[in-house]
Amino acid sequence: MTAGTLSLSAALRAGPVQAQTDEHRWRSARERLVADHLIPQGISDSVTLAAMRAVPRHRFVPADQRARAYDDTPLPIGHDQTISQPAVVAYMTQLVRPRPGMRVLEVGTGSGYQAAVLAETGVRVWTVEIFRVLAEEARVRLGALGYGGVTVRHGDGYAGWPEEAPFDAIVVTAGADTIPPALIEQLAPEGRLVMPVGDPFLDQQLVLVEKDGGGKVASTRLLPVRFVPLLRGLR
Ligand code: SAH
Repeated sequence: MTAGTLSLSAALRAGPVQAQTDEHRWRSARERLVADHLIPQGISDSVTLAAMRAVPRHRFVPADQRARAYDDTPLPIGHDQTISQPAVVAYMTQLVRPRPGMRVLEVGTGSGYQAAVLAETGVRVWTVEIFRVLAEEARVRLGALGYGGVTVRHGDGYAGWPEEAPFDAIVVTAGADTIPPALIEQLAPEGRLVMPVGDPFLDQQLVLVEKDGGGKVASTRLLPVRFVPLLRGLR
């Protein structure tokens, strides 16, 4: 074989080979995130861990944040909003006990990452975002990554999604002083809702609301968190 043949074949292969190497690198980074941060912090549900291993978080963050995509930290996504910390995404996913076919509402689409993690577990996802541009970007991104089953709407999550209610689970990824009544109404019997409640700078807690078969609700404060606020008024 001549040198010319070699360099030609190397040139032809450069694209796909590089892409494969990158993919391998991202996969290892996700594996480390799971092993070094998620499992040690108490994420034990195998369905949730599999979803965290599968969803390419680096595709949900701005290009200039990509190197930190698999750090266990929130990252800016523009418009003063953030993609949540992976451990928190995993914790909220595990809390709603995702099972294939379940109907889940997310309030606060942001990048679409939490919606993709939920979808990866086999649930059906409806997600609402108050910034039109974020909703549109997330819809395109989710479609391109094969999460076309996630339905994204530009709207105000305070109202939930009455046309698609009731939901087996509701995940709210922005905080407020109280849980919007519409969301409690749209939770199905035996449903679970998780939301940050309280002042993010003083005492914001992740709260789990469980509705029993008769429609009675009980809530439990789980742990301190810091989420961006649930906003009022479409943007
Ligand atoms: N779940 C997102 C991160 C959430 S950050 C992710 O995985 O990337 C919180 C998001 O909630 C922001 O995108 C913010 O614009 C949105 N938000 C704030 N108030 C809202 C409201 N009333 N209804 C719907 N979305 C809202």
